[in-house]
Amino acid sequence: MVIFSDGCSSQYKSRTPFADVSFAEKDVQCSIERNYFGSRHGKGPCDGEGGVIKAALSRAVKNQEFIPTCPQAVYDFCQKSLAKSTNSFRRTFYWTETGDIQRDRPSRVVKTVKGTRKLHSVRSTGEVYALQSRDLSCYCILCLSDATGCENQRWVDSWRMLKLSPSTNTNTVVNSESAPDARLESDNQTDQPCEHVMETDAIESCISDTQPVGSSGFHVCDFILVRVESARGRPLMFLGQIVHKDGNLFQVKFMKRVSDGKYIWPTREDVSWVPTTEIISAISLKSLTNREHFLFDSDKIKAAAEVAELDLG
Ligand SMILES: [Zn+2]
Repeated sequence: MVIFSDGCSSQYKSRTPFADVSFAEKDVQCSIERNYFGSRHGKGPCDGEGGVIKAALSRAVKNQEFIPTCPQAVYDFCQKSLAKSTNSFRRTFYWTETGDIQRDRPSRVVKTVKGTRKLHSVRSTGEVYALQSRDLSCYCILCLSDATGCENQRWVDSWRMLKLSPSTNTNTVVNSESAPDARLESDNQTDQPCEHVMETDAIESCISDTQPVGSSGFHVCDFILVRVESARGRPLMFLGQIVHKDGNLFQVKFMKRVSDGKYIWPTREDVSWVPTTEIISAISLKSLTNREHFLFDSDKIKAAAEVAELDLG
């Protein structure tokens, strides 16, 4: 498998991705050759696809057709409006649950590779923790057949061994034979910044966990009205969003009331666990006036407060 990507150190070009390349035969039963574009030369079809999603979301939010309250809502929106399948074109979305990706992978903890910045090509060798690396890539007919005497050897260096050292200390450094003169560097100082960071500031994320919360009727991401005991002894009704669920307890991120039906996130995050019994009802978000103001039906809020005999917090 031949991969071209940018040199984003947190995703593709650092010790952990190198360790993954070395595990290619074990993990995906084929060899992997990974090439890194020079800084700011890594634009590809995936950037256009990211742009399609961002543009569609911005348009829908501006036209008040959609409110991105949580990752699951964004996924549902994309699936409904952007997924396509024709004879010549397919766009598919995948939902990844929290926990679906194995993040704790001690076998991939290796020492930082000195000279990472200069490398633009690495490939697996069939042996874990052993790679071959080159400062530049070449796909001339000789390189393709793995023969010696690259047609571009005036510019392109030969493959060299790059041994990774498994490590429990994540800050140690190993020498790369391919770049003896490279300066010492850590992973976050490598070639270029990530070019694929999604601009999430237009999307109000509801933290990480978007799993439905079972039979209680309330779900992670739901906005709810909650009864809260106040210091003065008189309980009040607050509005918040469910961010996690554990048994009959809900972790709620509380909002601050600006005026009737209008709420904002407080400057200081106000999160606490509440039992199901303290939840009065769910309340749907009507619209987002801009990034900060959330509009709810004020009549519904007042009616709920009246029934529960609570004052608004
Ligand atoms: Zn060549």
